[in-house]
Amino acid sequence: MGRVLLSSPRPMPPEGADMAIPRHETLSTTAWVVERPGPLDSFPLRRVERPITEPRAREILIEVAACGVCRTDLHLAEGDLVPHRPRCTPGHEIVGRVLQAGSAVTEFTPGDRVGAAWLAGTCGTCRYCRADHENLCPYSRYTGWDLDGGYAGHTTVDARFAYPLPEGPADEELAPLLCAGIIGYRALERTDLPPGGRLGIYGFGASAHLTAQLALSRGAVVHVLTRSEEAQRLALELGAASARGAYDSPPEPLDAAILFAPVGDLVPVALAALDRGGTLAVAGIHLTDIPGLNYDRHLFQERTLRSVTANTRADGRAYLAEAARNRPTVHVQRYAMSRADTALADLAADRVTGVAVLIAE
Ligand SMILES: [Zn+2]
Ligand SMILES: [Zn+2]
Repeated sequence: MGRVLLSSPRPMPPEGADMAIPRHETLSTTAWVVERPGPLDSFPLRRVERPITEPRAREILIEVAACGVCRTDLHLAEGDLVPHRPRCTPGHEIVGRVLQAGSAVTEFTPGDRVGAAWLAGTCGTCRYCRADHENLCPYSRYTGWDLDGGYAGHTTVDARFAYPLPEGPADEELAPLLCAGIIGYRALERTDLPPGGRLGIYGFGASAHLTAQLALSRGAVVHVLTRSEEAQRLALELGAASARGAYDSPPEPLDAAILFAPVGDLVPVALAALDRGGTLAVAGIHLTDIPGLNYDRHLFQERTLRSVTANTRADGRAYLAEAARNRPTVHVQRYAMSRADTALADLAADRVTGVAVLIAE
């Protein structure tokens, strides 16, 4: 399929033109779509054949090699996040090769190894974009929510929001870095953890296990609080100083904490575990309601509660560079692309330790 595209003469569309594949080229790709958001036992995802669209001027067409499975995909499939458009293909931890580049693309050429992540586009002109807070752009668009993502054989993304990837690491080792890693990086930045500080990590899934390694490589003392005993074992293996149940107290007060579990009940628990002046960052895009906060126990003494919203491209570049130096151990559970629904069901049922990655067949 790729060869057909590469050998075709590059069409020269006007800037931004919506070029369709010539009718005689019956190119298509197999893709998962969220057919009807709902509980996983109602089978919200369906596999379809879909035509491949020609990349527009600033887009690249990617042949997907691997795509990480993120909890956000689960929220989209189950309807916890309102769909931005019907029958969207999930997946925003995409590793692949550039098959074809639009006429105005300068960042990549066909054959390049490339990563596509959650942030798919911003307006570039609003007050947030101009102030280096493009993660807060009200007009931002997201891979696998506004635009079709990587649960597919091929996908098309804006080249300006894609990342060049090194040739060394395996596909499944790189995919989780693109959301789990980058969001964890931003969450850690948002905690203002002092050098050598004591960090609590609540929940220990894909993002947490990468963030723990990032914090450890920077000299932090890491305490993990999570219900799964297998995840507790993994945490200790990766170098955490302690691993206990999600509602337990850490062995010492925390300078900072990150809440990865989408469980609002844990917000007061984590705030109470902070030392004076400590910060709790909530990493998830979705959180159940937070029960009553007590000002004295949870916030006074200058404790801070913060959310983390997506990431900037600068976060992505900084994290990927740091990960290239420290090469985190990525604990991967592999699934064939055709088993994306099983991977999501396993994630929902806490049967994934580390990170689930879909591998192209
Ligand atoms: Zn994600
Ligand atoms: Zn903007």
